[in-house]
Amino acid sequence: MQPEAQPTAPLTDSEGEPLEPLSRNVVEVRRPPPRAAVVPLLFDSPHSGTWYPEDFDHACDPALLRKAEDTHVDDLYDFAPSLGATLVCAVFPRSYIDVNRRLADIDITMIEGAWPDPVDVSPKTRSGIGLIWRLLDDRTPIYARKLTVDEVRHRIDRCYRPYWDALHRSAEHLVAQHGRLVHINCHSMPEEAGPLSWVPRGTRFADIVLGDRDGTTCTPEFTALVAEAFRKEGLSVAINDPYKGVEIVKQMGRPAEQRESMQIEINRRLYMDEATRERNANYASLKASLRRVMEQVAAYAAQAARRF
Ligand SMILES: [Zn+2]
Repeated sequence: MQPEAQPTAPLTDSEGEPLEPLSRNVVEVRRPPPRAAVVPLLFDSPHSGTWYPEDFDHACDPALLRKAEDTHVDDLYDFAPSLGATLVCAVFPRSYIDVNRRLADIDITMIEGAWPDPVDVSPKTRSGIGLIWRLLDDRTPIYARKLTVDEVRHRIDRCYRPYWDALHRSAEHLVAQHGRLVHINCHSMPEEAGPLSWVPRGTRFADIVLGDRDGTTCTPEFTALVAEAFRKEGLSVAINDPYKGVEIVKQMGRPAEQRESMQIEINRRLYMDEATRERNANYASLKASLRRVMEQVAAYAAQAARRF
């Protein structure tokens, strides 16, 4: 099957006005090459961006800020198009705006004046890591100032909406072509829990944590398949412990509508030095394991697609 061009409706801002052409692309969409056998498999890497926008104006040490990144996750999954899958990656960092949150999950105490849009905060915002982060993982405040309504709206219009737009368009395109979707939300996690974590500080995490929001975002069959594939690679796997998945899998995963979505957290100790953020000696080996696992996921997506 030939990959089809994606629809190209213009992006709009929160007022419905067309956005100015961006001086910088904030989202990358990597599609299968021409003549590839396309499978209804979509990956997204929302937290691996390393481009820090010029208007961020944070007060904390940039090296600490980078600890919030899922550094290298976009590269770890860069084989996706060669499997016939699509990969969506954020270019901006989650510390600037976190696309894995609802727009209403916003800490209005960080904003100067009245926030005009709906507010409905989750425990993430109360911990300082809502839509716009207030604190880093070690509780360092990110800003020494309040943010203006305009600058928060600018982050939403410039980064958040284009990311979700790319994700939704890619998903709808695959569903239109194949009648179903398998989605993998790609993340990495620190080696152990930090002070902001809800698990005891110093808890060491498994190699891989799969999140399906307690079995609600994909079928048990799919979770079992992925867990078994990682275990065959010699990796330890935990399920929903402690990471269940947040907003992206919640919105993308509707198994009753043939849309399966799973969050995968990879322990950073497997592929990088958390202090320097450099790739470690195990990087290529971990990436090869990940590719073998995802070949099975691609086969599942292709097989599942034939049921319809
Ligand atoms: Zn992440």
